[in-house]
Amino acid sequence: KLSNRLQRIADYITTGNRVADIGSDHALLPIYLLQSGRCPSAIAGELNEGPFQAARKGAADAGLQQRLEVRKGDGLSVLSGGEADSVTIAGMGGSLMSTILEAGDQAGKLQGVTELVLQPNVGEDEVRLWLLGKGWQLCDESILEEDGKIYEVLHARRSQDAAASNEAVYDGSFLPLSWSRSELKGLLVRMGPHLLRKPTPVLIEKWKLEIEKLERICKQLGGSDLPESAVKKSQFERDIKHIEE
Ligand code: SAM
Repeated sequence: KLSNRLQRIADYITTGNRVADIGSDHALLPIYLLQSGRCPSAIAGELNEGPFQAARKGAADAGLQQRLEVRKGDGLSVLSGGEADSVTIAGMGGSLMSTILEAGDQAGKLQGVTELVLQPNVGEDEVRLWLLGKGWQLCDESILEEDGKIYEVLHARRSQDAAASNEAVYDGSFLPLSWSRSELKGLLVRMGPHLLRKPTPVLIEKWKLEIEKLERICKQLGGSDLPESAVKKSQFERDIKHIEE
């Protein structure tokens, strides 16, 4: 049985798509997608030897070597354009994820890919910005808590009208805040436009924890005599106020 986190990612994959899971570790996700009949074939990419071997073993133990190809390499470099319809990247920081996506895009590795399912552990805003900048339509997002950790999953599609659709998705006028349009957009990039439209207790919990973290930092900065500490403290205080609003 998959973890709830991986299950949520799997649920977003369009049935029948060929999938490439980048940074696959034990290849649990592609193995599930093949065994459940959701995907006909899959590629698992891994940069590091240990996880690469774990993925190979997982594929062999499941008797899936014919349909699950395990490849070693950095990010999307393991793909040839047109080999996959869906790409999943999960369990790494948003910054690394955007770097992998950008390098892959530059190298034409996302050609033919119509769907991305991304689960950044932190730095979700960087991933949303990358998707926005590259014209991917953010179709849905979800947030869940498992084993004391909070995860966000982003589902994006390539579409003709991505720009218009994102315009609507990132239109923050539904929020009861008298902020400028660009401030509202910044907020949606940070907190998730779909998540903010249907806030769940987990979303509230995530941002409460963020406020607590910022308050701890403010407290530490308050004990410092350095002038730049005072500047930073007031920036963090403003940020806390924004999140609370
Ligand atoms: N995707 C799995 C999941 O969500 O359960 C595994 C996540 S694991 C924490 C992150 C994996 O990404 C590690 O196995 C690591 O070796 C791999 N990784 C890190 N940087 C990578 C890169 N540039 N290209 C491919 N794999 C990478």
